[in-house]
Amino acid sequence: MTVQAYGAYASDKPLEPMEITRRAVGPHDVQIDIVYCGICHSDLHEVRDEWGCTHFPCIPGHEIVGRVSAVGTHVSGFKSNDLVGIGCIINSCKHCEECESGFENYCDGMIGTHNSPTPDEPSWTLGGYSQRIIVHERYVLRIRHPEEQLAAVAPLLCAGITTYSPLRHWEVGPGKKVGIVGIGGLGHLGIKLAHVMGAHVVAFTTSESKRKAARMLGADEVVLSSSPKEMSAHSKSFDLIIDTVAAPHDLNTFLVLLKRNGILTLLGVPPSPHLSLEVSNLLSKHRAITGSMVGGIPETQEMLDFCAKYGIVADIELIRADEINGAYERMLKGDVKYRFVIDNATLAV
Ligand SMILES: [Zn+2]
Ligand SMILES: [Zn+2]
Repeated sequence: MTVQAYGAYASDKPLEPMEITRRAVGPHDVQIDIVYCGICHSDLHEVRDEWGCTHFPCIPGHEIVGRVSAVGTHVSGFKSNDLVGIGCIINSCKHCEECESGFENYCDGMIGTHNSPTPDEPSWTLGGYSQRIIVHERYVLRIRHPEEQLAAVAPLLCAGITTYSPLRHWEVGPGKKVGIVGIGGLGHLGIKLAHVMGAHVVAFTTSESKRKAARMLGADEVVLSSSPKEMSAHSKSFDLIIDTVAAPHDLNTFLVLLKRNGILTLLGVPPSPHLSLEVSNLLSKHRAITGSMVGGIPETQEMLDFCAKYGIVADIELIRADEINGAYERMLKGDVKYRFVIDNATLAV
């Protein structure tokens, strides 16, 4: 079937309307009419081929929410009209150790929602800036939020799970002191989640103007990371610091804020993977640096249910499809509070 979409034909071209083909619904497939799709910063990297591996035409989008419009003959968990989500993963090998333990995100055969190999036309996956998507039922997530929150749920599918996964893994809760570095798409959800989990939350920002906003999101304290005085006041005190910043920056200034056994978790991939590290900062307090990449399907469902229970959604700006290029420019300037979401009804021509 043919559906309307929005994508780019080349890395130096803006996104524009296009028509794409979606496969027929197979026995285990769920067909989803996409209502909203969030814009993740990685969409922009991919459209501009900044990682050097983009297939064109490129249709990004992996923060997908919508409504089931058809199911395959073997699908029992979903039915027409169900509210569902699709995140970063639409397939994996299904039988490796990672898949069997619910960590499809770490499967070597993980298939991303866009720009990954597929037997479907045009041989790489096409994402959520489109009217409809067909996905194997294993990778479809149930949304239990009230329907009027649906647009603001979309960013949970990438930004939400990316921050939730390390917070859960490192057992954040009452009595834990947690830092969130960067108050953007990821960071603003990290603050909300850590706050609801009961931790003492400290937000780090380079922008004086974000101080008040961070408190509103649930931060107990806000630290200007460019101020040595403010930073040293938190020396050796954190259990966990989640670093959402992809731009190059000095990790050592955050490492020294960790107490014994403290963990620094990196979520962003800087343009150069080589970071300067003062190894004595690890040794002196048995500290560790880890990384984390989205989450598995069971964990993503757990996150969605947690957010529905506690009323957590993203702070968003809803845009029309023809505003996507402008939204990318604003995203580059950090001019968004805190996530753009596309109204996919505006894709129709
Ligand atoms: Zn993303
Ligand atoms: Zn696997």
